[in-house]
Amino acid sequence: MARPLRILHLYPDLLNLYADRGNILVLRRRCEWRGIPVEVQPVPRGERPDLAHAHLVLLGGGSDREQMLVAETLRGMREDLRAAVEAGLPLLAVCGGYQLLGHFYELADGRRVEGLGLLDLETTAGRTRLIGNIAIESPAFGTIVGFENHAGRTRHRHEPLGRVLAGHGNNGEDGWEGVRYRNVIGTYIHGPLLPKNPALADHLIRTALEYAGEPADLAPLPDDLEQAAQQAVLERRLPAARTR
Ligand code: GLN
Repeated sequence: MARPLRILHLYPDLLNLYADRGNILVLRRRCEWRGIPVEVQPVPRGERPDLAHAHLVLLGGGSDREQMLVAETLRGMREDLRAAVEAGLPLLAVCGGYQLLGHFYELADGRRVEGLGLLDLETTAGRTRLIGNIAIESPAFGTIVGFENHAGRTRHRHEPLGRVLAGHGNNGEDGWEGVRYRNVIGTYIHGPLLPKNPALADHLIRTALEYAGEPADLAPLPDDLEQAAQQAVLERRLPAARTR
């Protein structure tokens, strides 16, 4: 392809708690290995980028305080984001970013951070944090592993990303993890997410290429190391699934 695939990394200076930057490195490298030119644009706090030039958007996780700061900026681009998402813009939102896709995130003290309302999704902080290794089974992407650390309990009526095999997931109760809506993926899984889950990384690249109007046939890559990394997490003692 002649034009580079353009990835927008929203607010890495605020939402950078859980190695979310690693997701960018993986996307970039997996494109480069296939000769696909990539351009990553980190968007600093307070700025509202022009989404018309983006083929893939990443929104990471952060503390409650950082989340409040980005929420305000994000709300200012709500209609642009909504239009782009409805048109098929691929968007990966992790943890705090995932929560902001919904109507609100209610803190433990009752204050509400108003979200983007792009998804029919609500999050309320519990009194304990849901922390630890997590494994899920996703109908589309197979096994996905990683780490989670959140106070928020999220509930929604969309398609989940997968079923919790071990760990907590959306709320520690219903056994679901993450969300899928059009080309949006929201998840609590970080650590970062993509290095140990190459099928998901390639899905994002494929949908971004399609959105860019480019050929999206991806040459397979030897993923032995990635699969070994995933296996290592699975063989570690994972916490039991909290399902009801
Ligand atoms: N502040 C949110 C929570 O604890 C998100 C945290 C995060 O992004 N890890 O639920």
